[in-house]
Amino acid sequence: MSQPTDKIQKLQYFGEFGGVNPSISDSSTYTFLSAKTMFDTFEGNTEGCYLYSRHSSPSNLYLGEALAALEGTESANVYASGMGAISSVIMQLCDSDDHIVSSRTIYGGTYAFMKNFLKKFKINTSFIDITNLDIVANSITSKTKMIYCEAVSNPLLEVADIKELAKIAKQHNIPLVVDNTFSPLSISAAKLGADIVIHSLTKFINGTSDCVAGAVCASTDFCLALKDVNDGAGMLFGSTLDSLRSAAILKNMRTLHIRIKKHSENTLYLASKFEKDGLKIVYPGLQSHKSHTTFKNQMNTEYGFGGLMTLDVGSLDKANAFMEMMQSESLGYLAVSLGFYKTLFSAPGTSTSSEIPMEEQEEMGLSDGLIRFSIGLDNDIEKTYIVMTKCMIALGIINKESILAEV
Ligand SMILES: *Cc1c(COP(=O)(O)O)cnc(C)c1O
Repeated sequence: MSQPTDKIQKLQYFGEFGGVNPSISDSSTYTFLSAKTMFDTFEGNTEGCYLYSRHSSPSNLYLGEALAALEGTESANVYASGMGAISSVIMQLCDSDDHIVSSRTIYGGTYAFMKNFLKKFKINTSFIDITNLDIVANSITSKTKMIYCEAVSNPLLEVADIKELAKIAKQHNIPLVVDNTFSPLSISAAKLGADIVIHSLTKFINGTSDCVAGAVCASTDFCLALKDVNDGAGMLFGSTLDSLRSAAILKNMRTLHIRIKKHSENTLYLASKFEKDGLKIVYPGLQSHKSHTTFKNQMNTEYGFGGLMTLDVGSLDKANAFMEMMQSESLGYLAVSLGFYKTLFSAPGTSTSSEIPMEEQEEMGLSDGLIRFSIGLDNDIEKTYIVMTKCMIALGIINKESILAEV
């Protein structure tokens, strides 16, 4: 079960002077000993030759190999952001007038890209309930070029049944594209049948909230197509990751397994406690979660159910007051994003999902009292629980009598 981590740990790259980390490729361009090799490299025919760092660089290839090991794919490309990865994949797969079947609960930026930006190319997207497999199958037309979803969705934590979705995709001969940003290691999307797996490395994989980066894990053919100098979306849009960042992310990835386990352990603890206290908690690790079984059936058990949970405190005013109080109690930061050592919280309806119109937010169950938490690596989570509970009592979100703990 520890396969993905073992595979990552087996990857050893030594530095130029025998260093324990690979040397960083500090160059945008590369010399050739012969002019013929340069021509062949442009044509994509020489392995191990570097052309220009927008195409690839040794540092980016090392990180790519680690990401391919994470997902168990043949290959992986890295990008300057998660959106750089997502937009490249979509533009690579779609021509004008094409169609996408996408989950309606996806990252706000991805939603905006599909809904607004792709209009320029007359590419239409049907935003559907990804947990309803009949609707997914019935939404596919002769113009559909992919099924798109998040393994665990943002921010409502719906879980996609990747095996079943992959079957539908296969029947229609189209790829299943899965954004696995919320559940690295916990869910091996490609092993379950996804053809293309995308990550925003900005979140858990880098884990230090100090840069933006992204990745596409897929077949070698698709990864090379994205890099093609003549018609590769990754190459031509130019959202290339800088080698210095790439090297830093690879080093952080070495501790991913430990971090994910701790994020999961802490989140399960808080979610279970708060649920017992009668609060409205959504966490896939709880039996009450509507996709608990789906997650359980496809997870790599030892990494847990991930570090994201939501809590509905009833109104935006209460959510804002609670978040400000938690921040002043040093429980975490009122900030978007996720996967940091410190807990991060935000109200998605007015932040990360504000691209989604109000009516649609309501329809998908995104209420304005909803707070999304990315739970941190707190050493004493019991203490965190007590301080959070004290804040909620002070704000009248919960009353003292209903609490089990001695707060
Ligand atoms: C953050 C995020 C993205 C976008 O990634 P960036 O690195 O910010 O471009 C895409 N998908 C999900 C699920 C995310 O959380």
